[in-house]
Amino acid sequence: MPQSVIMLGGGIIGLSCAFEAALRGYQVTVLESGKFGGQASGAAAGMLAPYSENIEQPDPFFRLCLQSLRLYEQWVEKVESISGMSTDWVRSGSLNVYRHEADLLPLQSRMRWHNEWGAKAERIEGEALRALEPGLSHDIEVALYCPEESHIYAPGLVTALETACRKLGVKLNDHAGELLDISFHESAGVSVQMSGLSKLSGDRIVICSGAWSGALERWLDIHIPIHPIRGQICSYESKADDLRHMVFSSGAYWVNKPIGRIVCGASEDVSGFDSSVTDRGIQRLIRASDRWMPRLAGRETAYRWAGLRPATMDGLPLIGNVVGKPSAMMASGHYRNGILLSPVTAMLICDLLDGGGDSSLLEAISPNRFTNL
Ligand SMILES: Cc1cc2nc3c(=O)[nH]c(=O)nc-3n(C[C@H](O)[C@H](O)[C@H](O)COP(=O)(O)OP(=O)(O)OC[C@H]3O[C@@H](n4cnc5c(N)ncnc54)[C@H](O)[C@@H]3O)c2cc1C
Repeated sequence: MPQSVIMLGGGIIGLSCAFEAALRGYQVTVLESGKFGGQASGAAAGMLAPYSENIEQPDPFFRLCLQSLRLYEQWVEKVESISGMSTDWVRSGSLNVYRHEADLLPLQSRMRWHNEWGAKAERIEGEALRALEPGLSHDIEVALYCPEESHIYAPGLVTALETACRKLGVKLNDHAGELLDISFHESAGVSVQMSGLSKLSGDRIVICSGAWSGALERWLDIHIPIHPIRGQICSYESKADDLRHMVFSSGAYWVNKPIGRIVCGASEDVSGFDSSVTDRGIQRLIRASDRWMPRLAGRETAYRWAGLRPATMDGLPLIGNVVGKPSAMMASGHYRNGILLSPVTAMLICDLLDGGGDSSLLEAISPNRFTNL
C-alpha cells in the first residue's frame, strides 16, 4: 500500500483528492504551479446539475455525475466542519426553460428517463411557472423543473478545501513554478522536480493539472487528448428574490449566489491557453440576459472573467491508474463539470490508492483508453 501521495495541480480536483486522501491517513503533498483554484476552478459557476447537463441518455458520464451529486451533502458537511468555513451550498432546484412548442417532445422523453433515475422532474407552464420564478420573460412557454439540482460558490469551496487540507496536515505548495521533471523509480515511487522547489518524492503521483494535463504525455507515455475550452462569464449585482432557481436556456444560464450576485455564463471558445475576456463573448451573454431575464435588462455587469475548461475527445474525464507506470494516476479532463464531479473523483482515486475501486465506473473513464496498448 502506498503511504505518500503527490497531487500535481491545486484546482478543485487536486484539493479534493488531497482532502480525501488525508482523511484516509495518507501523507499528502499538493504541488501547484500558480495559485490554488487560480484557473478553471475559481472561475466556475458552481452548478451541480447532472440532469441539466445530460439530456440524451443515462450513459456512464451521467451516472458519474449523478453519483457525485448524491455524495455532495456528506462531502460539504465534512469540508465545512473541518475547515470551519461555509461553502454557500444552495439546494435551489433548476428550471430548463423553452419558448417553443417544438421543444415539448424532447422535453417529455428527457423527463421520462430523468425521473427513472430519481430526478422528480416536473413540467411547469403558464401562471404556475410565473409564480415559481417571477423574473422569467413572459413569452417562455414551458419549463422542466428539477428540484434536486443545486449550486455551490466554487471559489468558497476551493478556499474551504485548502483550509481543511492544511488542518489535516497536507503539505500545500502553491507558486511552485514550472514542472521540470518527473522520474519513476524502478522499484516503486516517483520524484518530481518543480522550478520553485527542491526535488520531492512519493509513492504515487496523481495528475490533477486540468487543461494543462496533456503536457504530461512525455512522462506518462500515454496519449492524453485534453485541450482548453475557454468559458467567459459575468455577474450582476442581485437581491435574493431576483432569481430563485438556477435557470438554463438555449442562450445562457443564470444562478443567484448568496453573496448577492447573479452569475451568467458561459461561452465555449477555442482560444488555446488564452484566458482573457472579450467584449464579444460577454455581449452575447448580456443579449441572452435581456431576452430571457427582463429584470437584468439594462443592468451593468458587476464582474467579467474567464477560465479554461479541460475538455477531452469523448467528453469523459480521465480518472484511474496509468498503464505501465505503477506509481502514476490521473484525475483530469472534467470539462464543464469538475465542481460537480469533485467528490466522486476523490472517492475513486482514494479507493484505488486503498487497493480497491468501482470497476463498473472506472472502465469508461480509464486514462489509457486513447492509447494503443
Ligand atoms: C466559466 C466556467 C464555468 C464553469 N461552470 C461550472 C459549473 O457550473 N459546474 C461545474 O461542475 N463545473 C464548471 N466548470 C468546469 C470546472 O471549473 C472544471 O471542470 C474544474 O474546475 C476542473 O478542475 P481542475 O482542478 O481539473 O482544473 P483547474 O482548476 O484548472 O486546476 C488545475 C491546476 O493545475 C495547475 N497546474 C497545471 N499544470 C501544472 C503542473 N505541471 N504542475 C503543477 N500544477 C499545475 C494549474 O495552475 C491549475 O491551478 C466551469 C468552468 C468554467 C471555465
